[in-house]
Amino acid sequence: MADTMVDTRWVYAFGGGGADGDASMKNLLGGKGANLAEMSSLGLPVPPGFTITTEACVHYYSNAQVYPASLDGQVEAGLRRVEELTGKTFGDAANPLLVSVRSGARASMPGMMDTVLNLGLNDQTVEGLAALAGDRRFAFDSYRRFIQMYSNVVLGLDHHMFEEILDEHKDRLDVTVDTALTAEGWEAVVGDYKKAVERELGHPFPQDPQAQLWGAISAVFASWMNDRAKFYRRMHDIPESWGTAVNVQSMVFGNMGETSATGVAFTRNPSTGQNRLYGEFLINAQGEDVVAGIRTPQALTQIAREEMGDKNPSMEEALPEVFTQFKGVVEKLESHYSDMQDIEFTVERGRLYMLQTRNGKRTAKAALKIAVDLANEGVITHKEAVMRVEPASLDQLLHPTIDPKSPRNVIAAGLPASPGAATGKVVFTAEDAEHQGAAGESVILVREETSPEDIRGMDAARGIVTARGGMTSHAAVVARGMGRPCVSGAGEIRIDHKAEVFVTRGQTIKAGDIITIDGSTGEVLLGAAKMVEPELSGDFATLMGWADESRRLKVRANAETAVDARTARQFGAEGIGLCRTEHMFFDPDRIAAVREMILADDEAGRRLALAKILPMQRQDFVELFGIMEGLPVTIRLLDPPLHEFLPHTEEEVAAVAAATGLDADKLLNRAREMHEVNPMLGHRGCRLGVSYPEIYEMQVQAIIEAACEVAASGRPAPIPEIMHPLVAKGEEMKFLRELTDRTAKAVIAEKGCEIEYMVGTMVELPRAALRAADLAENAEFFSFGTNDLTQTTFGISRDDSGRFLNAYIDKGIFEKDPFVTLDQEGVGDLIRIAAERGRSVRPNVKLGICGEHGGDPASITFCESVGLDYVSCSAYRVPIARLAAAQAAIGVMEKDR
Ligand code: ADP
Ligand code: MG
Ligand code: MG
Repeated sequence: MADTMVDTRWVYAFGGGGADGDASMKNLLGGKGANLAEMSSLGLPVPPGFTITTEACVHYYSNAQVYPASLDGQVEAGLRRVEELTGKTFGDAANPLLVSVRSGARASMPGMMDTVLNLGLNDQTVEGLAALAGDRRFAFDSYRRFIQMYSNVVLGLDHHMFEEILDEHKDRLDVTVDTALTAEGWEAVVGDYKKAVERELGHPFPQDPQAQLWGAISAVFASWMNDRAKFYRRMHDIPESWGTAVNVQSMVFGNMGETSATGVAFTRNPSTGQNRLYGEFLINAQGEDVVAGIRTPQALTQIAREEMGDKNPSMEEALPEVFTQFKGVVEKLESHYSDMQDIEFTVERGRLYMLQTRNGKRTAKAALKIAVDLANEGVITHKEAVMRVEPASLDQLLHPTIDPKSPRNVIAAGLPASPGAATGKVVFTAEDAEHQGAAGESVILVREETSPEDIRGMDAARGIVTARGGMTSHAAVVARGMGRPCVSGAGEIRIDHKAEVFVTRGQTIKAGDIITIDGSTGEVLLGAAKMVEPELSGDFATLMGWADESRRLKVRANAETAVDARTARQFGAEGIGLCRTEHMFFDPDRIAAVREMILADDEAGRRLALAKILPMQRQDFVELFGIMEGLPVTIRLLDPPLHEFLPHTEEEVAAVAAATGLDADKLLNRAREMHEVNPMLGHRGCRLGVSYPEIYEMQVQAIIEAACEVAASGRPAPIPEIMHPLVAKGEEMKFLRELTDRTAKAVIAEKGCEIEYMVGTMVELPRAALRAADLAENAEFFSFGTNDLTQTTFGISRDDSGRFLNAYIDKGIFEKDPFVTLDQEGVGDLIRIAAERGRSVRPNVKLGICGEHGGDPASITFCESVGLDYVSCSAYRVPIARLAAAQAAIGVMEKDR
């Protein structure tokens, strides 16, 4: 194998005042490993250790799960270095070195993969640890933690078994909290743990530290492929090919009594962005205790404790000297990384150790505030601030919140763990959330606390409530990452799983009852509360302004109603990129005239019916043009097959006939006649305009008359862009161009107004893209209709793809749903070709995109690279598109430098 010849480096050391790696090496060392190295080099107190690279993981998975040959020796050498630095020996009965074996990928995946603490303990070393520490209770507490974690993570045993054993001992000893157990208590627990493992597995708990170490390394590599990790990767677009690194690090102990502690801190508030140290800690505890919600953690700072009204002391009071040192370290880290940091630390008998730092996950609201504040503090530039906010995350701010004026029937209060509001039916298990969510129900998941197994259910729920856990609990962290509103630690809620109810403030709420949660205040309300629409103001508006300074692509909205158009403008849309006229036809007042037109026996009959529709259609455009105040508006002429407007079943037909006086038999016959085997490829789009030119003539007339009317009223003259859908051939475009010009000129001549308009086409068929030069002869603009273009390029129906697309994604054939994120290779190639060929004939042909992809950040980056003029997306995604377009432009500038 290559690695034995060139002797690849698989292991990088850190700690002891220096490191082999640094923060720039995240791809190789994972985020955790790279930052442990960086912190070591900064001279911060990091327990020494080493990182096994992500390349070793990749090697492992591409070589039938076999390690690189030289890994063994390099791990051995890494361990020797740690032994020298700590003065302890791995496996030594008198002076044992204990280590943690921690996962850590390039992108942080909190809680998705596994970590084992206190590794190296066995029946001999536990005695050595007890003697060294002078604390038997501590040593056996560590050992029981190790057995439980290792058995769960490496040996695959259920953790409930251990929890039950512990509960039996607590009952026997008549204590309620873990910390009340004595040395003898823990020793007895350890004895029962070992028996249980042997009973389950048929062999004793592994005593050999070397075997333990390799077991844990394998388990961490294996955890890269567990279901939660896979699901999380898919949700966050993290490629499977990256692999995880493994960090082996000497242990420090937060469970060595009252001067020891463990905690988590954010340099600024991850929920609101407020510039204040924020976090939680627990005295006499280890690692996971804080996040797992086993005990309710205490505040770090005095001010936070006072605000919470907590009676337990803050770290500032309980450990004042370490706190001062810690505050200094934390400030150093934030200014070093010039971003908000999420930090793990442990205090061992009054000594501070740093265990992790990373750019902290945050809500969209916090991301905006932190980016704007850091720029205003002069730490980063406006452009850097723009790059700091994830465009998709803005979605969180573009949803309704509870109307401050609406009455609030508060039934419980907890912590404001993840902002936003949600209403839904109460469910108590992640499975129920998943099932009911998949069935289209809005549900709120109510749990004691959540664990990584619950991730799918959390994703399916509209919001999450937990009875236990703090602001950094699993529920809070994951909900913020997903943008789900969350109330955590609502301690007054008592859940009764058997009865499927929860009780709070004397009320009993059943599964299926409707509640509303306000993740911004931490309140749980009974019933559905009134919501208010979001708006763009404050930090959000500031950052959008900075984004616009860098943006090249214009952003328009897909809108046909006055409400959508107003929303779009409020969010900064610079025009309408797609107004679908058929939506206007479905209006109950109009559908009768539309049906009359469809039933007409000849052109004269159709024209009569169309004359009834004309004034209504004109009024639509007058309103839209008025709202858009001279901004461009792209209007697509009628697109769907006509039978979509007809009733289909006999009952529907009878009802329509009765209501309109139309003949029922005629309706039914016409519907049968018009039935198509494959309507998506049928009589639709401009094919309607070719067979029934009078329909498109009426629409063009309505558009131009409306434009004249608005211009005549003294308002800014509209610029209609008349768009013909589903064009495939140059000749088709020529026919439609002539029809449009003839009709428009007639109106303009008759009204004596001067209206500029454009004629163009939607490019949504592969042939149109390939023959774009032909189309450009008569089309002044192209709008890429990437929904249909994706369907027609793949030959996959968007409406039916749900049945098989998941199998494609699971098997890695598709990386993402091509209807969500543009297939840049295939569909993208067609766009590139069309742009190039169109421009060869008409250099200034205006190019835009109006499919769903117009609001997808990755697709927008592509649009920038092809040099389109604008993207168009739904009104609520306009801010997302503005930010994504700015980031794409900044990305291009950086590449050019
Ligand atoms: P995650 O990525 O899920 O946070 P970590 O690898 O960070 O997992 O470890 C889980 C917990 O164990 C954290 O609280 C961490 O601080 C603690 N921990 C990890 N390594 C050590 C160590 N060497 N000494 C003490 N605590 C540790
Ligand atoms: Mg961690
Ligand atoms: Mg289409």
